[in-house]
Amino acid sequence: MKTIDFKILVIMTTIILTNVTANNSEANDKPIVKHEFPALPYAYNSLEPYIDAQTMELHYSKHHKAYYDNFIKAITGTELENKELKEIFSGVSKASAAVRNMGGGYYNHVIFWNNLSPETGNISIDLAKAIDESFGSLNNFKEEFNKASSSVFGSGWAWLIVSEKDNKLKITTTPNQDNTLMDIASEKGTPLLTIDVWEHAYYLKYQNRRAEYINAFWNVVNWTEVNKRYEEWQKSKK
Ligand code: MN
Repeated sequence: MKTIDFKILVIMTTIILTNVTANNSEANDKPIVKHEFPALPYAYNSLEPYIDAQTMELHYSKHHKAYYDNFIKAITGTELENKELKEIFSGVSKASAAVRNMGGGYYNHVIFWNNLSPETGNISIDLAKAIDESFGSLNNFKEEFNKASSSVFGSGWAWLIVSEKDNKLKITTTPNQDNTLMDIASEKGTPLLTIDVWEHAYYLKYQNRRAEYINAFWNVVNWTEVNKRYEEWQKSKK
């Protein structure tokens, strides 16, 4: 009787251990994909007077939320459901227009909210060096970024990126909700800083005066976040 009990115990233990191992390896093979709608990292009114509270509220809770909801709808039940955004973007030319537009709209705004803050911080030594190398000076960089942002025809985004081609900082623009992680982008690279120049980003306060909005933007750039993205890129290259 005792021997049988022992055998059963061994079998049970083996079954439990096998299951635990199987579940673990399954979990390790699967990418951890969580497409969440992140909270805005500050209050709607905290970027005033540069960006007004009403614009922030509509932009985040209506526009951004709609991109997110529609992106989730577009990928649910498809092979893209369990893929990370970067992977989806790197093959976006083969995806539907909804995945490209809504996925871009979802991701771009997350980058944008995070690179804004009432606390602007300082540019790190490394990033300042890279800016000088590519643009001559911080002022020149800002001027070129302003020019690029102003020149976007219709709706789109201007970006400071680390170019995939030569690992140098570059300013580029994308139409609609495209971004520089997408395989269809003319300049591909890692986003460090972005500005949304869709009219919904500024029209309530600035109406047709996009240049004023772009100038105001510099007062609320979160350099701490931009430094962090540059650092992460540097680490990824090591
Ligand atoms: Mn927007």
